[in-house]
Amino acid sequence: AMDTDTIHPTDRRPIVVSGPSGVGKGTLLKMLMDKHPKVFGRKTSHTTRAPREGEIHGQHYYFVTKEEYDVMRDGDQYLELNNFNGNDYGTSKKVVESIIAQGKVPVMEMDYHGIQQLKDQGYAARFIFLAPPDIPTLEQRLQRRGSDEAEKIQQRLEIAEKEIEQSKVGGFHDTVIVNDDLEVSYKALEDYVFGREESNEAA
Ligand code: 5GP
Repeated sequence: AMDTDTIHPTDRRPIVVSGPSGVGKGTLLKMLMDKHPKVFGRKTSHTTRAPREGEIHGQHYYFVTKEEYDVMRDGDQYLELNNFNGNDYGTSKKVVESIIAQGKVPVMEMDYHGIQQLKDQGYAARFIFLAPPDIPTLEQRLQRRGSDEAEKIQQRLEIAEKEIEQSKVGGFHDTVIVNDDLEVSYKALEDYVFGREESNEAA
């Protein structure tokens, strides 16, 4: 069998993954990290959101107070930042730099405002959008996850619809993966990040 961890992508640009809450980003990225821990390093974001059940500080997010978040923002320590649905999120420059210093390709998760900020800075990255098969499926997944109240779910679905529209703008993302079957999506993700396939250029 091939030891994939001896294979590194020739393209060293950070991988930026976005997609609506509940689309399965967390699951797919965990699979990628577990399989290739020496190749990729997951960027942990800072957020003022409260942890969901099972979320671990330093792993899923750095859960910080608004004051701590603001100190970092005022110190220009974020590569990009955004307020999403009432909570602040940001990518620490230091966190990304330490992943690169370990010889790994950073894998970052952010919403499209974050992507826009990276693009505005001319930041070199590869942008992947994970799309749900459709909105009703996403709604079911959010309800099953059970971590958000009904009102929050509706807000997240509205944001998701906008993100899906945005993802159809040609060239905004380098590739779009529809997460219907997890194994199929994982394979598409792996193929893309290792450069085994051309990106699905939007028509
Ligand atoms: P959640 O609260 O569901 O974990 O994340 C809400 C949204 O914030 C998602 O769209 C997620 O991709 C985005 N997000 C998470 N971390 C960051 C970040 O560091 N920067 C930006 N811009 N968005 C983030």
